[in-house]
Amino acid sequence: MSSTSKHVILVTGGTGLIGSAIKHVIETEAPNSRFGKHDGEEWIFARSSEGDLRDPVATRELFAKYKPTHVIHLAALVGGLFKNMKYKLTFLRENTLINDNILHTSYETHVVKLISCLSTCVFPDKVEYPLDENKIHLGPPHESNFGYAHAKRMVDVSNHAYHEEFGCNFTSAIPTNVFGPADNFDLEDSHVIPGLIHKCYLAKKNGTPFVVSGTGKPLRQFIYSYDLAKLFIWQLREYNEIEPIILSVGENEEISIKEVADSIVKAVGFQGDYKFDTSRSDGQFRKPASNAKLLRLIGNFEFTPFDKALDETVKWFLDNYHNARTGKKSA
Ligand code: NAP
Ligand code: GDP
Repeated sequence: MSSTSKHVILVTGGTGLIGSAIKHVIETEAPNSRFGKHDGEEWIFARSSEGDLRDPVATRELFAKYKPTHVIHLAALVGGLFKNMKYKLTFLRENTLINDNILHTSYETHVVKLISCLSTCVFPDKVEYPLDENKIHLGPPHESNFGYAHAKRMVDVSNHAYHEEFGCNFTSAIPTNVFGPADNFDLEDSHVIPGLIHKCYLAKKNGTPFVVSGTGKPLRQFIYSYDLAKLFIWQLREYNEIEPIILSVGENEEISIKEVADSIVKAVGFQGDYKFDTSRSDGQFRKPASNAKLLRLIGNFEFTPFDKALDETVKWFLDNYHNARTGKKSA
């Protein structure tokens, strides 16, 4: 990005986990530093009440209001394994509508650069590990979230088509499982870390068992939302390909769901009964992704150690319990 002309950066889904982390980093890093706000930049963090992006008219109105030159597109119907298993068609339709509206309106309004957010769910279930940027379309995704995965996969197809037919600079980011402050801590519909933090908190408060879904054996790579935010800011300013890029910790940093639950027990200070409900799904066993391309392009990048990031997230949850997205507060 040139430092002389004015840039208006619209972050869709700007109030969510990743959007609020980008806002935090932009506002707290030193001005004009690698991740801080640069002179000439205006950052807009849009919430859904400003415009339902499933609606093309509302999407055009949002773009007419802010006239973005750059877009980081995060808005989506989002959820963890159990929500994805329940609402496959809704995940497919809503995310397809949102993505089509954002990409087409960005094309119509001559947006200079658009980054859309995919997920490692887009990768084939049966493929040689580690996952890398060249393997997205090599086979069907895992059956547990195929609706969400196909909607997200098509963004990569669209990015290439917009580039080849109209010369658009549309690209995408592929994060692994994300966690941090301002996450959705719903008990059933959230991702594993916020869901288990909330469950562990309630178990401690009510003197009830802490129940982890599945066997605890599946492996995941987790990235702290504040680290991911820096990577998005870097990608916006310094990454110049249409091809997606995986934004992740190293493939050697997979941890089991049991290790996650153990760390949560420690961070929450829970001492009661702790067990696994093996009648519930494990989902995909693992999906290790390589960050070799990221490290080659960004140079050195320091990821926050998992336990430190988890402690900060638990602290945020405890400090903000009454305003956090927790679903049923009476549970
Ligand atoms: P999140 O916390 O649930 O936030 C979702 C955001 O999307 C919210 O700001 C929400 O706005 C907005 N949104 C949802 N439906 C909308 C609609 N119809 N119109 C306008 N805005 C809408 O999700 P997140 O975890 O930050 O996820 C952001 C992106 O990262 C998504 O594309 C997701 O697929 C991707 N991703 C997430 C993870 C993860 O582990 N969390 C992993 C990989 C990829 P309101 O809150 O104002 O309603
Ligand atoms: P994924 O990484 O896309 O599969 O999504 P999740 O963040 O939902 O993680 C799912 C994994 O965590 C599966 O192995 C689940 O069995 C396990 N898990 C254990 N407890 C929970 C929970 O309370 N919520 C969720 N979402 N997953 C859980």
